[in-house]
Amino acid sequence: MQYQIQRDRMVQDQLVARGIKDTRVLQAMRKTPRHLFVEEAFAMRAYGDYPLLIGEKQTISQPFMVGYMVEALALNNKDRVLEIGTGSGYQTAVLAEICQKVFSIERIKSLAKKARQLLESFGYHNFQIRIDDGSIGWAEKAPFEAIIVSAAAPQVPAPLCEQLAEGGRLVIPVGTEKSQTLRLIYKKNGEIFEEEKFGCTFVKLIGKYGWEI
Ligand code: SAM
Repeated sequence: MQYQIQRDRMVQDQLVARGIKDTRVLQAMRKTPRHLFVEEAFAMRAYGDYPLLIGEKQTISQPFMVGYMVEALALNNKDRVLEIGTGSGYQTAVLAEICQKVFSIERIKSLAKKARQLLESFGYHNFQIRIDDGSIGWAEKAPFEAIIVSAAAPQVPAPLCEQLAEGGRLVIPVGTEKSQTLRLIYKKNGEIFEEEKFGCTFVKLIGKYGWEI
């Protein structure tokens, strides 16, 4: 109950107050127990307005960033979503609440395994987690109506644009290792269009179309 109050407050103060309107995103974030996706020692801070460490030098993104990026995808319940960077699995759960199926890729085995176990324990069946380099996408499952990249890339990985369905949306932080700009990319009549949103800082996307380790 105490956590439900914190979640409601997080949604009101960090998301609604900053302009997030999509009711499905707000509802999913009101429901998802973020404190169970962080290490036990951080549970009391799970609903704070910041990212937190999740082990392996990786982070769970700030709640606003999750809300903003998921809203930017303009999802409906028939959409199949590719997520790069499963991390804790928190955002995977938020996506799974809204879309038909989430295909999530994480390069660090221990994180992928933990996220998979957690999501299964919550009864989610509409997700698949693969341990691999997500910068090359997941060609066998393409095309995707939406792609969300939760790690910073030096440029937009070409395979992700190729794997985007007609009318599809891709959200990704692009820039240097230290700072990036969030980009919203969409495919219309086979052409790729891009919009720059705002500055942000993510951990590195490591892989063929990302950074070297
Ligand atoms: N959205 C996640 C959550 O809710 O916990 C947080 C993602 S965290 C900011 C970024 C994740 O991307 C890390 O877990 C990292 O290991 C992963 N990552 C980095 N490069 C990757 C790659 N090429 N393919 C897949 N995952 C990658």
